[in-house]
Amino acid sequence: MSGLFDLKGKVALVTGASSGLGVQFAKALARQGADVVIAARRVEKLENVKKEIEAMGVRCMAIKCDVLITSEITAMVSEIKSAFGKIDILINNAGIGKGIPAESQTDEEWRETLRINCDSVYYVAREVGKVMIEQKYGKIVNIGSIHSMVAMPGSPISAYCTSKGAVLMMTKALANEWAKYNITVNAIGPAYFPSEMTKDVIETEGLLGAIQILCPMGRPGREGELDGAIVYFASDASSYTTGQYLAVDGGWTAI
Ligand code: NDP
Repeated sequence: MSGLFDLKGKVALVTGASSGLGVQFAKALARQGADVVIAARRVEKLENVKKEIEAMGVRCMAIKCDVLITSEITAMVSEIKSAFGKIDILINNAGIGKGIPAESQTDEEWRETLRINCDSVYYVAREVGKVMIEQKYGKIVNIGSIHSMVAMPGSPISAYCTSKGAVLMMTKALANEWAKYNITVNAIGPAYFPSEMTKDVIETEGLLGAIQILCPMGRPGREGELDGAIVYFASDASSYTTGQYLAVDGGWTAI
């Protein structure tokens, strides 16, 4: 049974791995034996994460890549191909979360969220997908959100919710299109976890109070509580599971 979750010999790419959940995902995969490529724009942060991952006994490569620039994505994919010869796993995680009232949000603000949280998820999947199609194997995990499924009472997150809802449908569409190539495409929907994105709100009375009401478990997620979901979708334990969304939200979307 433990072999089902074994990632030795696999090569994983994690986007947005300079902070927050991306770092946790990269470490969870490394713990299972995968070699990991970590990507983001802040190189210094990536280098620190790289050291921690290498200390776990696997190979790690850090690549500076802005996921909004398709030429940088293409260059990153060929760099990984040259170094490792393949890409087995993609964790499509880079994203932003801004709260801006819908009635005063500018075109640029709306587009920024949609471009990073939706367009870039597709751009990276497309380029990595070409490699996976060629090798007839791939595991893609898109990071959605609780807000792929539900909005938040009184919260100004229309662009974020729209982008994460799109990630859910993109997951289903790509899963259907690429099943014939032995590629699975699934998504995870975390509720609130500590990270750079949530640091200003996660300990506020407002959010903690809302979590008490909206989340049966009555607390935010903790470090490590997404590891099981990411390893399941990244490993052959999920070989017959595709186009699915797994909520990791303390029961939030069950009520
Ligand atoms: P962080 O802000 O800690 O991390 C975001 C990551 O995305 C950083 O590594 C950042 O790297 C990267 N990133 C942002 N823009 C770009 C870009 N243009 N090009 C490349 N990388 C980029 O937030 P989280 O860890 O919380 O968020 C990670 C993902 O998890 C997001 O998709 C978010 O929506 C999702 N999520 C988070 C939840 C939470 O509660 N924390 C809940 C549900 C979903 P850099 O700035 O170095 O480029």
